[in-house]
Amino acid sequence: MNAEALAPWASEPQRSRGRRRHEALAPPRNEHQRDRDRIVHSTAFRRLVYKTQVFINHEGDLFRTRLTHSLEVAQLGRSVARALRLNEDLVEAIALAHDLGHTPFGHAGQDALQACMAEHGGFEHNLQSLRVVDSLEVRYPDFDGLNLTFETREGILKHCSPRHARRLAAAEPGGPAQRFIDGTRPSLEAQLVDLADALAYNAHDIDDGVRAGLISLAQLGDVPLFAHWRSEVLAQHPALAGQPGRRLLFETLRRMLSAQIADLVQTTAALLADAASPDADAVRALPRLVRFGDALHAQQAELKTFLFRELYRHPQVVQSTAVARTVVGELYAAYTTRPQEMPADYAGAGNLPRAVADYIAGMTDRYALREHHRLTGRRLFEH
Ligand code: MG
Repeated sequence: MNAEALAPWASEPQRSRGRRRHEALAPPRNEHQRDRDRIVHSTAFRRLVYKTQVFINHEGDLFRTRLTHSLEVAQLGRSVARALRLNEDLVEAIALAHDLGHTPFGHAGQDALQACMAEHGGFEHNLQSLRVVDSLEVRYPDFDGLNLTFETREGILKHCSPRHARRLAAAEPGGPAQRFIDGTRPSLEAQLVDLADALAYNAHDIDDGVRAGLISLAQLGDVPLFAHWRSEVLAQHPALAGQPGRRLLFETLRRMLSAQIADLVQTTAALLADAASPDADAVRALPRLVRFGDALHAQQAELKTFLFRELYRHPQVVQSTAVARTVVGELYAAYTTRPQEMPADYAGAGNLPRAVADYIAGMTDRYALREHHRLTGRRLFEH
């Protein structure tokens, strides 16, 4: 994308706050394109293909994984970025990296690791994503991590508790954790990826939930955001009502996504025009500018409540997440008692609980299951 095409409040690559370790520029790529390429070539990125989003990876080949989720977030984010003349490359880099720190087995894995690490500094997937790109990737001769630009790292650190923010900001004053202390916002591109993430999972979790047979189109009739677009589809294509198959679902989701993107672009463009911010730095001090309209925001909240009640807490999902928690908890116990079961660079690390957490967090679902079987002799899932 040409720099001239960017809006004045977009993050321009040539005005980046830079990398922690200085590196020469690499034309023709700009610095955010280069970040994106480093992320795509990382080991952690390739592991996303075998990590659970909601459904455990072995439950079916067509469910979203962390990788396909991240690609959908990048696609939605880039569409909006282009419409608003924000930095598409930065949006893409943040989107592709935003889930790199997720454990195997989705939120169940993260909850289990959090419990194990409660006395050892805790575990949080946003912090872990930053840790992956800052130190855990081992690819360069002179430094650990990917040495990404400030703007990409800022977008990756989406949430951060005050305790962690103080610790990170003490180690790196003015770094990506500083805003949680100062109470400022991240770049518009980071604000956008945050919303594109929710936009993606709200839609694809409906699709996956219906595919798994855990939620039905009839139930979704109670969710206004979905019901509105379904009636529109049925009004134009009445034959779909009695048809088996998934055309009605897909067409409804397609319209629902397009409508939300249109609302996001329109609402944000109006806020940006009112704010008339001079540049990308000034927007950090303003209230959040990348937003959905209030009416749509309320409808999205209803959808989220529905998904929590009917899908994320569905007995079948809860049952497999309980098993996942057992796997992660028992792996943690096994490696802390017998560190020699881990590769040498983890086994020999100074802080053993943190090394174990890093090792487990990096695992794919199926690798975690294989390791669990090897170390305990028990097979909790087929794998
Ligand atoms: Mg995500």
